[in-house]
Amino acid sequence: MFENLSERLSGVFDRLTKQGALSEEDVKTALREVRVALLEADVSLPVARDFVKKVQEQATGQAVTKSVTPGQQVVKIVHDALVDVLRGDGDPGKLKVDDPPAPILMVGLQGGGKTTTTAKIAKRLKEKDGKRVLMASLDVYRPAAMDQLAVLGAQIGVDTLPIVPGQKPVDIARRAKQQAALGGYDVYMLDTAGRLHIDQALMQEVEDVRNVVEPRETLLVVDGLTGQVAVEVAEEFDAKIGITGVVLTRMDGDGRGGAALSMRAVTGKPIRFVGTGEKMDALETFEPERIAGRILG
Ligand code: GDP
Repeated sequence: MFENLSERLSGVFDRLTKQGALSEEDVKTALREVRVALLEADVSLPVARDFVKKVQEQATGQAVTKSVTPGQQVVKIVHDALVDVLRGDGDPGKLKVDDPPAPILMVGLQGGGKTTTTAKIAKRLKEKDGKRVLMASLDVYRPAAMDQLAVLGAQIGVDTLPIVPGQKPVDIARRAKQQAALGGYDVYMLDTAGRLHIDQALMQEVEDVRNVVEPRETLLVVDGLTGQVAVEVAEEFDAKIGITGVVLTRMDGDGRGGAALSMRAVTGKPIRFVGTGEKMDALETFEPERIAGRILG
């Protein structure tokens, strides 16, 4: 479907392969292609524009090393610049869960993969970090979602807070906090309710829960295939709730990963994990190089 950016750039530079330095004009021509490719990969226009400007400044006047073609050199400059934007501070896979019981708040829209990701992260914390984890569903509007978390918990051998019908989300959060302390858990994860769209009631509810538990991590789970929508959702949740990181799901699909770039550029928040399937093991620590490669094609 997409023409590969690397190929495209090689095409642009074919006529230049015998020349020695990148002129401003050459770089401009190449970067027009980069911009189109970024937009096709679902990077937002302002982010694509800023990115291209930055690369233009870096690339112009750079001598082309003898061992590579100008096309390869621009691809490398673009690749490195992508990685630079995508990389956050520190290790994305290392959650702040010292200080037991450490609360992790999971937020996002309905259908983004929040419940699945909660269980995937719980499994990872248990198996990789040896943590005792308690999960609790705060989705009082969809009893099926509460059952879903309990089923996943049983499947991965992680405890879930017993369901008490009729309890409000903040009360469930309080109960989870209490149970986590009494039960000697290292971490407790709260799977909040999602909605189809962001609304005031949802935000208020998540805010109330946040105030009760004071989470160490607030992870936003968004469908990586929704591109711009994912970025808008992230901005909104960050402004209202304050997030500490993002999990992009459905990265096993054929999306080009552009949402990741916009997400980083717009919110400044680190991408911590990517979901790569429905199974409980299908969670990877975010690797900027991999997404950069995917955007470049
Ligand atoms: P929630 O409403 O945000 O809690 O979403 P769910 O966790 O219920 O996920 C909705 C659907 O997406 C389920 O069928 C999941 O199995 C699926 N899903 C979640 N994460 C991924 C992922 O990374 N890749 C794929 N292919 N499917 C996913």
